[in-house]
Amino acid sequence: MSETHQTMKMLPGDEIRQIMWRYADRYDIQMAVMGARSVARGLIARLVADGERNTHAWTEGKNELYKAFDESGITAAGLDTEFGGIIEGPRNFALGLLAFELSWVDGGATTTSLINNLALGPIVEKGTPAQREKYMNACRPLQPGEDRKVWRGAFALTEPLPYVGVDTGVVSGRVSVARWEEGEEPLLQVEKRGRFLTNMAVANFVTAAVESGDPRIKSSCMVILEDTDEGVFDRGAPTLKLVHQLSNTQDPIFSLKVPASRIVGGYTVKDGVIVPNCTHSEIIEAVFARTRVTVGLMAAAKLLSAVEPVIRYQRGRFRGAAGIEPGTPRYDLGLQMKEDALQRLAEVWATGEAAASLGFETTRLFDAFTPAERQAQQTFAEQGVSGRGLLKFLRQPQADAVELLGLLAQPEEARDNARVETLLADPLVRYVWQSALCNMLCPATKLWNTGYGANVMREAVSLMGGYGITEDCPGFLFQKWTDMQLEATYEGPEVVQRRQISVTMNNEVFLAQVKAWSADLKRLAQAQPQTGAGAIAAAFDMWLWMRDHISSRKDAEGRPLAQNTRHGVLFPMADAISWLLAARSFLADIRELA
Ligand SMILES: Cc1cc2nc3c(=O)[nH]c(=O)nc-3n(C[C@H](O)[C@H](O)[C@H](O)COP(=O)(O)OP(=O)(O)OC[C@H]3O[C@@H](n4cnc5c(N)ncnc54)[C@H](O)[C@@H]3O)c2cc1C
Repeated sequence: MSETHQTMKMLPGDEIRQIMWRYADRYDIQMAVMGARSVARGLIARLVADGERNTHAWTEGKNELYKAFDESGITAAGLDTEFGGIIEGPRNFALGLLAFELSWVDGGATTTSLINNLALGPIVEKGTPAQREKYMNACRPLQPGEDRKVWRGAFALTEPLPYVGVDTGVVSGRVSVARWEEGEEPLLQVEKRGRFLTNMAVANFVTAAVESGDPRIKSSCMVILEDTDEGVFDRGAPTLKLVHQLSNTQDPIFSLKVPASRIVGGYTVKDGVIVPNCTHSEIIEAVFARTRVTVGLMAAAKLLSAVEPVIRYQRGRFRGAAGIEPGTPRYDLGLQMKEDALQRLAEVWATGEAAASLGFETTRLFDAFTPAERQAQQTFAEQGVSGRGLLKFLRQPQADAVELLGLLAQPEEARDNARVETLLADPLVRYVWQSALCNMLCPATKLWNTGYGANVMREAVSLMGGYGITEDCPGFLFQKWTDMQLEATYEGPEVVQRRQISVTMNNEVFLAQVKAWSADLKRLAQAQPQTGAGAIAAAFDMWLWMRDHISSRKDAEGRPLAQNTRHGVLFPMADAISWLLAARSFLADIRELA
């Protein structure tokens, strides 16, 4: 880091972002970013400016989005390369960057671009090879000279109240056996009502969560429905959303007959019973773990996109008044002369930066984790371990990961580096380490970026005064603020993320990681106190102390503080650690620049 004191004159440009977010060597990703930016600042900005957000209807203009996404490579970025995909390797990261670019202008349009990945998610994560091939090929954008319909998908988990919402375990959609002739593939009857399903105005296929409604089907599962299946495929009425009008959302009704080969991940038949290879919960967990991070990155882009409109407005606020001459602070800085206005804007910016750093770090982590997870799952299958047996099987790797992090907490010159190498080379140690981190960083990104981010976005709107709540406000700040409330809600509202964190924060591997981070930050603070590393380290230590405290104490009525129903105790801990993770990621990105 430079010794001379310099101030930032403008938001970091692409060259700096590529270093901070670690894609300076990925020309393909840089090109994909450019493609997304041109769609965002071209078609999408035009749709918003033309008032297309003022109608719930899915208009011709809005429908143009799909073509633009196909032509710019945005659709293809979500596909495997063998099925027309364009990103080899870090797909979570690349999709995060594209979502960041699009939501710089509009969150609803971003959702329209992402929904196919969510619809395909169950198939990508757990589908059979035949399912992956069929549906990814169907979604593949048109190549020059090709004439076929490009399929769009929807993801159907949520049901009309009082059914599945925050609690995804209880599904009322049902699957039963409609016909099953000797030696033939069973035909299933699927009954599912959906609520708030994105892309339902156009979807050709739907991945739907259903519970077994038949003793001949062992468990819940996800099934793939198509708009040409026999029965009712009623797209339902549009949701009258106050936000995200550049995506389409409807409440559909399905009553369809589908072959059993549509069960996501396949099935086996045991004693005359269809046994799905994956339950709906297993699939949803794998899908949301990745897609929630992208939503967090949408929030980051909005916060950062607010900085320039606010500066422009506030700097020019007094210009033109009698006696305010060019060259005077009131002329040059306008409202930005005032400490409060300056500091609040700095907070909008810093929140956006930290949200981006946390989100991109999490996408990179998932890209590294995906192969480690596949390898570990293969090992589990080969060794025949599952369920409770898995906990026992992973006990040693878990202990080794804690040991590894203990070693990493020590200065490099003082620790047993040979042991570090040995532990790092063990795939199961890496698996439990990365898994512990993913299980914290994903919900923290979704929770902090969208929830706290929405609060800070309100501050950005305030900084524009009355202008902020008019249609003329540059940067569509009001729409971005209200859109963020939806992003804090869909794919699991804040309560879902807090519940997850209040469990996964107790993983010994994560706690060892926090100690290692704290030790590293203290060393940095000694060498470069101006980085603020000492404050983050002290905050991590306080959080660790508090977690220990609540784990062992009871309240005045004798109830343990750490009981999982004690949201009033656990949720503030979840919020606090999310803050700290964001601050740490931001500092890590700045160190990358140094
Ligand atoms: C525009 C839009 C698009 C959407 N797209 C899709 C889609 O494509 N596919 C899909 O499947 N779903 C979709 N959804 C649904 C979305 O994921 C759900 O709305 C969300 O998960 C919350 O569920 P719910 O609305 O039923 O809230 P509820 O379950 O009714 O919860 C409401 C609130 O009650 C509180 N609460 C609930 N349970 C608890 C608890 N156990 N502990 C503490 N507090 C609790 C929380 O504050 C929570 O936010 C979409 C929603 C919208 C609005």
